[in-house]
Amino acid sequence: MTITTDQSTVVIDALRAVLGADYVVSDRAGLGVYELDASDEAITGIHRPLAAVLPETTEEVAEVARIAAEHDLPLLARGSGTGLAGGAIATQGGVMVVTTRMNRIVEVNLIDRYAVVQPGVVNLDLSTHLAPQGFYYAPDPSSQRACSIGGNLGNNSGGPHCLKYGVTNNHVLGLEVVLPGGEVCRFGGPSAENPGHDLTGLIVGSEATLGIITSATVRILPLPEEKGVLLATFESMETASRAVSATIADGILPSALEMMDKVTISAIEAGIGAGYPRDAEAVLLVELDGPTQTVGEERERVAEILSEHGAMTLSVAETAEEAELLWWGRKAAFGAMGRLAPNYHLTDTVVPRSKLPEAMQLVAEVASDYDLIIANVFHAGDGNLHPLILFDRKEPGIMERVLDASSVLMQHCIDLGGAISGEHGIGIEKNDALTLMYSDIDFGEMARVKRALDPRDLANPGKVFPSNFDRFGEPLD
Ligand SMILES: Cc1cc2nc3c(=O)[nH]c(=O)nc-3n(C[C@H](O)[C@H](O)[C@H](O)COP(=O)(O)OP(=O)(O)OC[C@H]3O[C@@H](n4cnc5c(N)ncnc54)[C@H](O)[C@@H]3O)c2cc1C
Repeated sequence: MTITTDQSTVVIDALRAVLGADYVVSDRAGLGVYELDASDEAITGIHRPLAAVLPETTEEVAEVARIAAEHDLPLLARGSGTGLAGGAIATQGGVMVVTTRMNRIVEVNLIDRYAVVQPGVVNLDLSTHLAPQGFYYAPDPSSQRACSIGGNLGNNSGGPHCLKYGVTNNHVLGLEVVLPGGEVCRFGGPSAENPGHDLTGLIVGSEATLGIITSATVRILPLPEEKGVLLATFESMETASRAVSATIADGILPSALEMMDKVTISAIEAGIGAGYPRDAEAVLLVELDGPTQTVGEERERVAEILSEHGAMTLSVAETAEEAELLWWGRKAAFGAMGRLAPNYHLTDTVVPRSKLPEAMQLVAEVASDYDLIIANVFHAGDGNLHPLILFDRKEPGIMERVLDASSVLMQHCIDLGGAISGEHGIGIEKNDALTLMYSDIDFGEMARVKRALDPRDLANPGKVFPSNFDRFGEPLD
């Protein structure tokens, strides 16, 4: 989207009049922070918005939306910028609403078990705030120390504990949303039943392509009485995958069931030393939670099942500190990859749990076919794979090889009955790959929904819909 210098000045002055000059970033250096997110910049690129604004209230967001609409400019939303699909990048310029200052926990209701939060609240801060009262917020992306609840809602994020408790959309009761024209809408709320169309469900996961969430009413849960954490080692990823299926088939639902391969273990041990056995080909990190007696019984049963299905060693965290260290290893895994290679490309796919052994075999085949190192660290209980292709961007021709391998992995997962994204969203990283899953008719219907709420395609344009679709999301030819 091109805009003249005169127009830019008018827009920036109007934004400053609403927010004050301190909260409108429009200089080149200041905007550097907002040109990228955590996605692979070689794929998603570097894009500068016209301005990044930091409002504090819904009214301010609505005013900003009106100004953007008046000048026909894209309206973007950004939380903490930890997204891995380029969803929060300004590919067509425009005004970026950054929610960092919208970080108030507005209400906590322990009796009806909900909290009302602004979108910029950091995920872990909500649970930390609730902990003294014996409650927590269940969806826990591994990035939870940094990512915002608004970003979690935008991407319908998952996390290790979503196996038992469900991903973000299972925890959202109501939303306040600013539409691209500046209208403020409220969908759902804390009551058990919300009649009418479920527009809350529509907005969650829509990656800011329908509007900006300015407040969320989310479910909160009582902290479990007890947690039990086990680490099991295996001679192969396939054996570990079979042990995952056997555990769930037995009727036990762990609160988390995470798998890591040898490459990942070596990165974690070199990086932070979580105590994972370096000689294992695969480890399973299992957590059980609930009443103390149940956790004890289930821990024994899980240990039996894992042993019956090829676990070579089993260790139980005896203290909260030991459990935390094992978890810290898992949560730091992506960052630890820097120990092994300067770059990684993450393919966030999902397969039915029962297909995990096959999927692991296919990942190994792709690594061999493309002569690449692929590390695996993922939410095994959900079948949500995270093959991390390690590479050095300086190597000539490497990007093509990495992206080809990633496409083949996505196709394999679809063939196994899965999908191209388990939790990280589509953004601009996977919008073209979405054609592997949906037909033109499917996209046409999605586009009609978008047009109903955003007739001028101002809300995060260019995201989610494939690039060969015009501004209303319909096929060009
Ligand atoms: C090390 C690491 C580990 C990760 N682990 C996980 C994981 O376990 N599970 C997982 O699901 N993801 C994970 N992620 C990805 C990422 O952290 C999540 O997608 C997270 O929810 C993004 O939050 P954010 O605040 O950074 O959002 P951003 O990156 O700022 O934005 C993400 C998307 O949400 C939209 N958005 C932001 N705010 C709003 C709003 N107020 N209203 C509407 N839309 C909005 C943006 O436009 C964008 O499309 C990980 C990322 C990293 C770097």
